[in-house]
Amino acid sequence: MNNSMFGLEALRAGFAGMVGAACWLAPLGALAQPDPQWLGHDRSRPAPAVVDPGTASTPDRAGRAPSDAVVLFDGKDLSAWASMDGSPTRWIARDGYMECVQGSGYVRTLECFGDCQLHVEYASPVPASGDGQGRGNSGVFFGLDRYEVQVLDSFGNRTYSDGSAGSVYGQYPPLVNASRPPGQWQSFDILYTAPRFQAGGQLVSPARMTVFHNGVLVQNNVELTGPTSWLERAPYSPHSEKTPISLQDHGNPVRYRNIWVRELGKPARRELMLARSLLDSYVGTYEVTRNNQIEVARAGDQLQMRFHGVSFLLFAESPTHFFAKTTDVQCDFQKSAAGQTISVSVGEGAHVGRKVR
Ligand code: MG
Repeated sequence: MNNSMFGLEALRAGFAGMVGAACWLAPLGALAQPDPQWLGHDRSRPAPAVVDPGTASTPDRAGRAPSDAVVLFDGKDLSAWASMDGSPTRWIARDGYMECVQGSGYVRTLECFGDCQLHVEYASPVPASGDGQGRGNSGVFFGLDRYEVQVLDSFGNRTYSDGSAGSVYGQYPPLVNASRPPGQWQSFDILYTAPRFQAGGQLVSPARMTVFHNGVLVQNNVELTGPTSWLERAPYSPHSEKTPISLQDHGNPVRYRNIWVRELGKPARRELMLARSLLDSYVGTYEVTRNNQIEVARAGDQLQMRFHGVSFLLFAESPTHFFAKTTDVQCDFQKSAAGQTISVSVGEGAHVGRKVR
Protein backbone atom coordinates (compact mmCIF):
# COMPACT_ATOMS: atom_id res chain seq x y z
CA MET A 1 0.00 0.00 0.00
CA ASN A 2 1.27 3.39 -0.87
CA ASN A 3 1.06 5.32 2.35
CA SER A 4 1.37 8.68 0.70
CA MET A 5 -1.44 7.78 -1.70
CA PHE A 6 -3.44 6.45 1.20
CA GLY A 7 -2.82 9.67 3.01
CA LEU A 8 -3.85 11.74 -0.02
CA GLU A 9 -6.93 9.58 -0.62
CA ALA A 10 -7.83 9.86 3.02
CA LEU A 11 -7.33 13.60 2.92
CA ARG A 12 -9.47 13.89 -0.20
CA ALA A 13 -12.12 11.61 1.28
CA GLY A 14 -12.06 13.57 4.49
CA PHE A 15 -12.30 16.86 2.65
CA ALA A 16 -15.13 15.57 0.48
CA GLY A 17 -16.82 14.28 3.59
CA MET A 18 -16.44 17.65 5.28
CA VAL A 19 -17.82 19.44 2.23
CA GLY A 20 -20.62 16.92 2.03
CA ALA A 21 -21.36 17.31 5.73
CA ALA A 22 -21.22 21.08 5.45
CA CYS A 23 -23.61 21.03 2.47
CA TRP A 24 -25.87 18.69 4.35
CA LEU A 25 -25.70 20.46 7.68
CA ALA A 26 -26.01 24.06 6.58
CA PRO A 27 -29.51 23.82 5.14
CA LEU A 28 -30.59 21.75 8.13
CA GLY A 29 -29.36 24.46 10.43
CA ALA A 30 -31.23 27.03 8.36
CA LEU A 31 -34.40 24.95 8.26
CA ALA A 32 -34.39 23.93 11.88
CA GLN A 33 -35.75 27.26 13.05
CA PRO A 34 -37.26 29.18 10.14
CA ASP A 35 -39.48 31.13 12.53
CA PRO A 36 -37.50 32.55 15.45
CA GLN A 37 -40.61 32.37 17.62
CA TRP A 38 -41.20 28.64 17.24
CA LEU A 39 -39.30 25.38 16.94
CA GLY A 40 -40.17 23.07 14.08
CA HIS A 41 -43.26 21.06 15.09
CA ASP A 42 -43.42 23.08 18.31
CA ARG A 43 -46.14 21.52 20.44
CA SER A 44 -46.67 24.73 22.39
CA ARG A 45 -47.61 26.57 19.19
CA PRO A 46 -51.30 27.59 19.41
CA ALA A 47 -53.71 25.25 17.67
CA PRO A 48 -55.71 26.70 14.77
CA ALA A 49 -59.17 27.85 15.79
CA VAL A 50 -61.84 25.27 15.09
CA VAL A 51 -64.32 26.43 12.45
CA ASP A 52 -67.47 24.67 11.29
CA PRO A 53 -67.04 25.09 7.52
CA GLY A 54 -70.79 25.25 6.86
CA THR A 55 -72.31 23.76 3.75
CA ALA A 56 -72.13 24.40 0.02
CA SER A 57 -75.08 25.82 -1.87
CA THR A 58 -77.20 23.81 -4.26
CA PRO A 59 -79.22 25.31 -7.13
CA ASP A 60 -82.32 25.29 -4.92
CA ARG A 61 -80.88 26.07 -1.53
CA ALA A 62 -78.31 28.53 -0.27
CA GLY A 63 -75.53 26.96 1.78
CA ARG A 64 -74.61 27.78 5.35
CA ALA A 65 -71.70 30.13 6.11
CA PRO A 66 -68.61 29.03 8.06
CA SER A 67 -69.10 29.49 11.79
CA ASP A 68 -66.59 32.36 12.03
CA ALA A 69 -68.04 34.37 9.12
CA VAL A 70 -70.03 37.58 9.37
CA VAL A 71 -73.24 36.81 7.51
CA LEU A 72 -74.14 39.80 5.36
CA PHE A 73 -77.26 38.32 3.79
CA ASP A 74 -78.96 35.10 4.79
CA GLY A 75 -82.00 35.47 2.55
CA LYS A 76 -84.17 37.18 5.12
CA ASP A 77 -83.53 40.91 5.46
CA LEU A 78 -81.28 43.82 4.52
CA SER A 79 -80.32 44.74 8.09
CA ALA A 80 -76.57 44.58 7.27
CA TRP A 81 -76.97 46.97 4.31
CA ALA A 82 -77.68 50.62 3.59
CA SER A 83 -77.58 53.09 0.73
CA MET A 84 -74.20 54.72 0.21
CA ASP A 85 -75.19 57.70 2.40
CA GLY A 86 -76.21 55.37 5.23
CA SER A 87 -79.96 55.73 4.71
CA PRO A 88 -82.20 52.64 4.22
CA THR A 89 -81.83 51.02 0.81
CA ARG A 90 -84.63 50.48 -1.69
CA TRP A 91 -83.20 47.15 -2.84
CA ILE A 92 -85.71 44.42 -2.04
CA ALA A 93 -85.36 41.16 -0.11
CA ARG A 94 -87.81 38.32 -0.76
CA ASP A 95 -87.94 34.57 -1.33
CA GLY A 96 -84.39 34.11 -0.10
CA TYR A 97 -82.69 36.66 -2.34
CA MET A 98 -82.06 40.39 -2.52
CA GLU A 99 -82.53 42.23 -5.79
CA CYS A 100 -81.24 45.46 -7.22
CA VAL A 101 -83.97 48.02 -7.88
CA GLN A 102 -83.08 50.20 -10.86
CA GLY A 103 -82.24 53.75 -9.82
CA SER A 104 -81.95 52.94 -6.13
CA GLY A 105 -78.17 53.24 -6.10
CA TYR A 106 -75.49 50.96 -4.73
CA VAL A 107 -75.94 49.15 -1.42
CA ARG A 108 -73.12 48.99 1.08
CA THR A 109 -72.51 47.09 4.27
CA LEU A 110 -72.92 49.01 7.51
CA GLU A 111 -69.79 47.27 8.78
CA CYS A 112 -66.28 47.93 7.51
CA PHE A 113 -63.81 45.22 6.50
CA GLY A 114 -60.10 45.14 5.73
CA ASP A 115 -58.33 42.09 4.28
CA CYS A 116 -61.04 39.47 3.87
CA GLN A 117 -62.52 36.44 2.20
CA LEU A 118 -65.91 37.21 0.65
CA HIS A 119 -68.46 34.71 -0.62
CA VAL A 120 -71.31 36.05 -2.72
CA GLU A 121 -73.82 34.38 -5.03
CA TYR A 122 -75.71 36.07 -7.83
CA ALA A 123 -78.17 35.27 -10.59
CA SER A 124 -78.45 37.24 -13.82
CA PRO A 125 -81.94 38.35 -14.90
CA VAL A 126 -84.16 36.12 -17.05
CA PRO A 127 -85.00 36.44 -19.78
CA ALA A 128 -81.64 37.92 -20.74
CA SER A 129 -82.02 41.36 -22.22
CA GLY A 130 -79.54 43.88 -23.50
CA ASP A 131 -76.07 43.30 -24.89
CA GLY A 132 -72.51 43.75 -23.77
CA GLN A 133 -72.27 45.85 -20.63
CA GLY A 134 -76.05 46.25 -20.63
CA ARG A 135 -76.82 42.62 -19.77
CA GLY A 136 -77.03 41.74 -16.09
CA ASN A 137 -74.51 44.35 -15.04
CA SER A 138 -73.74 44.79 -11.34
CA GLY A 139 -70.54 44.50 -9.34
CA VAL A 140 -68.93 43.61 -6.05
CA PHE A 141 -66.90 46.52 -4.70
CA PHE A 142 -64.25 46.69 -2.01
CA GLY A 143 -62.84 49.91 -0.60
CA LEU A 144 -66.43 51.24 -0.45
CA ASP A 145 -66.85 51.96 -4.18
CA ARG A 146 -63.30 51.79 -5.48
CA TYR A 147 -62.34 48.25 -6.52
CA GLU A 148 -64.85 46.27 -8.59
CA VAL A 149 -65.11 42.61 -9.43
CA GLN A 150 -67.49 42.74 -12.38
CA VAL A 151 -70.85 41.01 -12.17
CA LEU A 152 -72.26 40.62 -15.69
CA ASP A 153 -74.27 38.09 -17.67
CA SER A 154 -71.29 36.88 -19.70
CA PHE A 155 -72.99 33.68 -20.87
CA GLY A 156 -72.81 33.96 -24.66
CA ASN A 157 -72.52 37.72 -24.33
CA ARG A 158 -69.34 39.21 -25.77
CA THR A 159 -68.09 42.48 -24.37
CA TYR A 160 -64.65 43.97 -23.81
CA SER A 161 -62.69 41.36 -21.85
CA ASP A 162 -61.64 43.56 -18.96
CA GLY A 163 -65.33 44.24 -18.34
CA SER A 164 -66.69 40.68 -18.47
CA ALA A 165 -67.87 38.64 -15.48
CA GLY A 166 -65.05 38.04 -13.02
CA SER A 167 -62.87 40.80 -14.39
CA VAL A 168 -61.24 43.32 -12.13
CA TYR A 169 -63.06 46.00 -14.07
CA GLY A 170 -60.94 47.84 -16.58
CA GLN A 171 -57.71 46.17 -15.42
CA TYR A 172 -57.70 42.36 -15.57
CA PRO A 173 -59.93 40.11 -17.70
CA PRO A 174 -60.85 36.83 -16.00
CA LEU A 175 -58.45 33.98 -16.81
CA VAL A 176 -61.43 32.03 -18.20
CA ASN A 177 -65.14 32.62 -18.72
CA ALA A 178 -66.77 30.28 -16.15
CA SER A 179 -70.24 31.84 -16.47
CA ARG A 180 -73.47 29.93 -16.03
CA PRO A 181 -76.66 30.78 -17.95
CA PRO A 182 -78.85 33.60 -16.66
CA GLY A 183 -81.22 32.62 -13.87
CA GLN A 184 -78.81 30.04 -12.43
CA TRP A 185 -77.05 30.81 -9.17
CA GLN A 186 -73.34 31.58 -9.54
CA SER A 187 -70.69 32.31 -6.96
CA PHE A 188 -67.69 34.52 -6.43
CA ASP A 189 -65.17 33.70 -3.73
CA ILE A 190 -62.83 36.63 -3.40
CA LEU A 191 -59.68 37.22 -1.36
CA TYR A 192 -59.19 40.95 -0.97
CA THR A 193 -56.08 42.58 0.41
CA ALA A 194 -56.64 46.24 1.20
CA PRO A 195 -54.07 48.75 -0.01
CA ARG A 196 -51.95 50.38 2.69
CA PHE A 197 -51.07 54.05 2.85
CA GLN A 198 -48.59 56.00 4.94
CA ALA A 199 -49.91 58.67 7.29
CA GLY A 200 -49.00 61.23 4.63
CA GLY A 201 -51.11 59.41 2.05
CA GLN A 202 -48.34 57.74 0.00
CA LEU A 203 -49.12 54.22 -1.22
CA VAL A 204 -47.21 51.55 0.72
CA SER A 205 -48.73 48.46 -0.92
CA PRO A 206 -51.46 48.16 -3.56
CA ALA A 207 -54.81 46.34 -3.32
CA ARG A 208 -54.71 42.68 -4.39
CA MET A 209 -57.42 40.23 -5.39
CA THR A 210 -57.81 36.52 -5.97
CA VAL A 211 -61.17 35.50 -7.42
CA PHE A 212 -62.88 32.14 -7.97
CA HIS A 213 -65.93 32.19 -10.25
CA ASN A 214 -68.15 29.17 -9.67
CA GLY A 215 -65.12 27.54 -8.03
CA VAL A 216 -62.82 28.24 -11.01
CA LEU A 217 -59.81 30.51 -10.52
CA VAL A 218 -60.25 33.67 -12.62
CA GLN A 219 -57.94 36.16 -10.84
CA ASN A 220 -54.67 34.99 -9.30
CA ASN A 221 -53.49 37.50 -6.71
CA VAL A 222 -53.54 40.42 -9.14
CA GLU A 223 -52.18 43.78 -8.08
CA LEU A 224 -54.62 46.61 -8.73
CA THR A 225 -53.20 49.73 -10.36
CA GLY A 226 -55.69 51.91 -8.50
CA PRO A 227 -59.47 52.26 -8.36
CA THR A 228 -61.34 50.50 -11.16
CA SER A 229 -63.09 52.88 -13.49
CA TRP A 230 -64.38 53.38 -17.00
CA LEU A 231 -62.19 55.05 -19.64
CA GLU A 232 -59.30 55.76 -17.31
CA ARG A 233 -56.74 54.24 -14.97
CA ALA A 234 -57.29 56.35 -11.90
CA PRO A 235 -54.40 56.64 -9.42
CA TYR A 236 -54.72 55.55 -5.81
CA SER A 237 -55.98 58.03 -3.29
CA PRO A 238 -55.59 57.23 0.40
CA HIS A 239 -58.46 55.71 2.37
CA SER A 240 -59.07 53.69 5.52
CA GLU A 241 -57.84 50.11 5.59
CA LYS A 242 -61.31 49.02 6.68
CA THR A 243 -64.19 50.05 4.44
CA PRO A 244 -67.67 48.81 3.56
CA ILE A 245 -68.27 46.27 0.78
CA SER A 246 -70.85 47.37 -1.79
CA LEU A 247 -72.96 45.98 -4.62
CA GLN A 248 -73.57 47.98 -7.77
CA ASP A 249 -76.83 49.26 -9.18
CA HIS A 250 -76.13 49.37 -12.92
CA GLY A 251 -79.81 49.41 -13.84
CA ASN A 252 -80.32 45.65 -14.08
CA PRO A 253 -82.37 43.54 -11.60
CA VAL A 254 -79.50 41.25 -10.58
CA ARG A 255 -80.24 38.99 -7.60
CA TYR A 256 -77.92 38.05 -4.73
CA ARG A 257 -78.04 35.45 -1.98
CA ASN A 258 -75.80 33.79 0.64
CA ILE A 259 -73.30 36.60 1.23
CA TRP A 260 -70.74 36.20 3.98
CA VAL A 261 -67.31 37.56 4.81
CA ARG A 262 -64.40 36.40 6.95
CA GLU A 263 -62.01 39.11 7.99
CA LEU A 264 -58.39 37.92 7.85
CA GLY A 265 -55.56 38.65 10.24
CA LYS A 266 -55.88 39.36 13.91
CA PRO A 267 -59.35 39.35 15.43
CA ALA A 268 -60.85 42.66 14.55
CA ARG A 269 -63.08 44.98 16.46
CA ARG A 270 -66.41 45.59 14.76
CA GLU A 271 -66.28 48.89 12.93
CA LEU A 272 -69.25 50.63 11.30
CA MET A 273 -69.52 53.34 8.69
CA LEU A 274 -72.29 55.61 9.97
CA ALA A 275 -74.37 58.11 8.03
CA ARG A 276 -72.79 61.56 7.96
CA SER A 277 -76.08 63.01 9.23
CA LEU A 278 -75.75 60.91 12.39
CA LEU A 279 -72.09 61.89 12.81
CA ASP A 280 -73.06 65.55 12.38
CA SER A 281 -75.53 65.21 15.26
CA TYR A 282 -72.55 64.55 17.56
CA VAL A 283 -70.46 67.47 16.34
CA GLY A 284 -70.03 70.25 18.88
CA THR A 285 -68.52 71.34 22.18
CA TYR A 286 -69.03 69.37 25.37
CA GLU A 287 -68.27 70.88 28.77
CA VAL A 288 -66.84 68.56 31.42
CA THR A 289 -66.03 71.48 33.72
CA ARG A 290 -65.87 75.16 32.89
CA ASN A 291 -62.19 74.87 31.99
CA ASN A 292 -62.28 71.40 30.52
CA GLN A 293 -64.04 70.95 27.21
CA ILE A 294 -64.28 68.21 24.63
CA GLU A 295 -64.50 69.19 20.98
CA VAL A 296 -66.02 66.84 18.44
CA ALA A 297 -65.75 67.50 14.70
CA ARG A 298 -66.47 65.44 11.59
CA ALA A 299 -63.58 64.45 9.32
CA GLY A 300 -65.09 62.85 6.21
CA ASP A 301 -66.84 59.69 7.36
CA GLN A 302 -65.35 59.80 10.85
CA LEU A 303 -65.48 61.82 14.01
CA GLN A 304 -62.46 63.54 15.47
CA MET A 305 -62.26 64.25 19.19
CA ARG A 306 -60.06 66.81 20.90
CA PHE A 307 -59.68 66.27 24.64
CA HIS A 308 -56.98 67.58 26.99
CA GLY A 309 -55.25 69.12 23.99
CA VAL A 310 -54.95 65.78 22.15
CA SER A 311 -56.79 65.00 18.89
CA PHE A 312 -57.66 61.51 17.73
CA LEU A 313 -60.01 59.86 15.24
CA LEU A 314 -63.00 57.96 16.56
CA PHE A 315 -64.21 54.70 15.03
CA ALA A 316 -67.84 53.59 15.46
CA GLU A 317 -68.51 50.23 17.07
CA SER A 318 -72.24 50.98 17.24
CA PRO A 319 -74.35 54.03 16.37
CA THR A 320 -73.49 55.52 19.80
CA HIS A 321 -70.24 53.82 20.92
CA PHE A 322 -66.88 54.91 19.51
CA PHE A 323 -63.24 54.05 20.12
CA ALA A 324 -59.83 55.44 19.20
CA LYS A 325 -56.98 53.44 17.70
CA THR A 326 -54.08 55.63 18.74
CA THR A 327 -55.00 55.71 22.42
CA ASP A 328 -57.22 53.49 24.53
CA VAL A 329 -60.14 55.90 24.67
CA GLN A 330 -63.76 54.89 24.31
CA CYS A 331 -66.79 57.13 24.40
CA ASP A 332 -70.57 56.98 24.29
CA PHE A 333 -72.94 59.67 23.11
CA GLN A 334 -76.24 60.12 24.86
CA LYS A 335 -79.39 61.49 23.26
CA SER A 336 -82.61 62.84 24.73
CA ALA A 337 -85.96 61.19 24.08
CA ALA A 338 -86.47 63.86 21.43
CA GLY A 339 -83.29 62.73 19.64
CA GLN A 340 -81.06 65.66 20.59
CA THR A 341 -77.48 64.84 21.55
CA ILE A 342 -77.08 65.89 25.18
CA SER A 343 -73.78 64.48 26.41
CA VAL A 344 -70.75 62.32 25.82
CA SER A 345 -69.09 60.06 28.35
CA VAL A 346 -65.41 59.30 27.82
CA GLY A 347 -63.39 56.51 29.37
CA GLU A 348 -66.24 54.39 30.69
CA GLY A 349 -67.96 57.38 32.24
CA ALA A 350 -64.91 58.83 34.00
CA HIS A 351 -65.48 62.12 32.14
CA VAL A 352 -68.93 63.28 31.16
CA GLY A 353 -69.29 66.32 28.96
CA ARG A 354 -72.60 68.14 28.53
CA LYS A 355 -73.19 69.44 25.02
CA VAL A 356 -73.16 73.23 25.14
CA ARG A 357 -73.13 74.03 21.41
MG1 MG B 1 -70.45 46.50 -12.99
